[in-house]
Amino acid sequence: MQIVFIGPPGAGKGTQAERLIKKYNLAHLSTGDMLRAARDAQTEVGKKADQYMSQGQLVPDDIIVAIIGERLAEPDCQKGYLLDGFPRTIAQAEALDALLSRQNTSLDAVLELRVPEEELFNRLAGRGRADDKPDVIRQRLVAYREQTEPLLDYYEKKKVLKSIDGLGTVDDIFNRVVETLADLSTPA
Ligand code: ADP
Repeated sequence: MQIVFIGPPGAGKGTQAERLIKKYNLAHLSTGDMLRAARDAQTEVGKKADQYMSQGQLVPDDIIVAIIGERLAEPDCQKGYLLDGFPRTIAQAEALDALLSRQNTSLDAVLELRVPEEELFNRLAGRGRADDKPDVIRQRLVAYREQTEPLLDYYEKKKVLKSIDGLGTVDDIFNRVVETLADLSTPA
């Protein structure tokens, strides 16, 4: 299975992703985790990325697409993967489509985790990561609205978008995700 997970910062993608990769034995490709690891290791890419991350802005597409292109070529991605935090712009989605079509493959589903914006702000403000300061949170929410939300239409048109209510307990939400994926193999 090849899945994309989309949702605003604070929607709970990370928590659900951890469970999903276990249940379906997928490689977990979180661009946020990759960038934080690069930043902490002080690589050139990491230092460059941090200039954007610390401001709540998206890292330039060419950097991200290069990282993902290399990662998707690794052997563990053969078993299927969950893309968590990528793509986040139309240009990234187009680059992913190009990569996939070169491999003669496509996405099984794009899952959108929906959470109202007031709730997001409260969740993020209580978390304490370096980029969880109020003005940086606000900028990340703006980046989501302006640059990532257009992807919902993009994937809706390709008939792969599945929207999931992201309010409720972690178990409730996970059950919704699992049901959504089960429906893929038995279309109505
Ligand atoms: P969140 O979804 O809570 O914002 P992430 O861990 O997914 O957290 O991302 C943290 C930061 O990493 C983003 O604010 C952004 O600067 C950068 N980032 C992650 N993925 C991408 C991407 N696909 N394109 C551009 N920037 C990204």
